[in-house]
Amino acid sequence: MSTHIPYGRQSISKDDIQAVVAVLESDWLTQGPSIERFERAVADYCGAKYAVAVNSATSALHIACLAAGLGENDIFWTSPNTFVASANCGLYCRARVDFVDIDPRTYNLSLEELERKLRLAKTTGKLPKVVIPVHFAGQSCAMDRIAELSKQYGFTIIEDASHAIGGRYRATRIGSCAYSAMTVFSFHPVKIITTGEGGMVLTNNPSLYDKLVRLRSHGITRDPSLMEEESHGPWYYQQIELGFNYRMTDLQAALGASQMKRLDEFVARRHFLSSLYDKELQDLPVIIPWQHDDAYSAFHLYVIRLRLDKIGRSHLEVFEALRERGILASLHYIPVHTQPYYREIGFMPGDFPEAEKYYQEAISLPLYFGLSEVDQERVIDAVREAVQ
Ligand SMILES: *Cc1c(COP(=O)(O)O)cnc(C)c1O
Repeated sequence: MSTHIPYGRQSISKDDIQAVVAVLESDWLTQGPSIERFERAVADYCGAKYAVAVNSATSALHIACLAAGLGENDIFWTSPNTFVASANCGLYCRARVDFVDIDPRTYNLSLEELERKLRLAKTTGKLPKVVIPVHFAGQSCAMDRIAELSKQYGFTIIEDASHAIGGRYRATRIGSCAYSAMTVFSFHPVKIITTGEGGMVLTNNPSLYDKLVRLRSHGITRDPSLMEEESHGPWYYQQIELGFNYRMTDLQAALGASQMKRLDEFVARRHFLSSLYDKELQDLPVIIPWQHDDAYSAFHLYVIRLRLDKIGRSHLEVFEALRERGILASLHYIPVHTQPYYREIGFMPGDFPEAEKYYQEAISLPLYFGLSEVDQERVIDAVREAVQ
């Protein structure tokens, strides 16, 4: 019996393991020098001034929303075609969420919908304070236009780039924050690089940076200029706002810094495998991923859409046919607004039809650095058989 092929998995090298072991033998398991080294490596790679490492992208999104000033009675918008964390983060701040339906080609939030919704929201006084574009599958949103709209309508942009480290938009790397206030990465094992669990916020703004650093660790400062009275001594700190323990460990940061050395290799391999899929699948009754000229995707996901009118099986039957052959394909994403929790707060099926239609047809095929060409051939054969 042949082994299963997952949709994504990490690649851990001997150097990665060595980097973690070295931390275990050092003085610092957390709050040590590895954190700064990892933050510097990511910030320099992306071309951003500052980076703040935290224990997950979910935490990163939460403190980014807080740093943007999102609070009760504020509104924020994101895409319905994302992991629930992109929307939950603003709810943690007691803000109200709304969604912008997706573009049928990129599966990112639609620019036309965003513009339409902003015009309408202006007339009803319900403009968003924060918009969270998600670079779905690793392909950048149309940041140039979104940045223009942010100036026109006065919202702050937080890029959810959980899929997109190593990708580019025009002349900039994702994470440069050239078009946004803050950018968030995830280092979960299925993502492009991993720290086990982990995330990061990047920014070019020093006051956002200071705020993010405080929120990561309880809202505590050791900066005398921010304290309300003179320092009592070398042990002294003050808590000046309500923060969290969202710190990353040095073990994780060392793994992350080591993984950064292979980031370009990881993304190049994903491109290579994606173009093989493109070539082998393009004549089948499926839609292969469309790529915008402005974007160099990190290819976190390779998503096909079934042309169900041309296939004798249902969406679920195609999934089951793949599973029977050991191909653990997946589906990104269940539209967030259709989740029971989100229906509870007022959303309904039918609210974002493009995202819902996409959900009826999409399949994420296995794509990861260590996927061999032999295994990829198995996936291609299984898809060919399942859709014909
Ligand atoms: C994975 C992911 C997250 C959450 O990342 P964690 O590091 O697991 O918290 C958020 N947004 C998107 C788009 C993701 O894919």
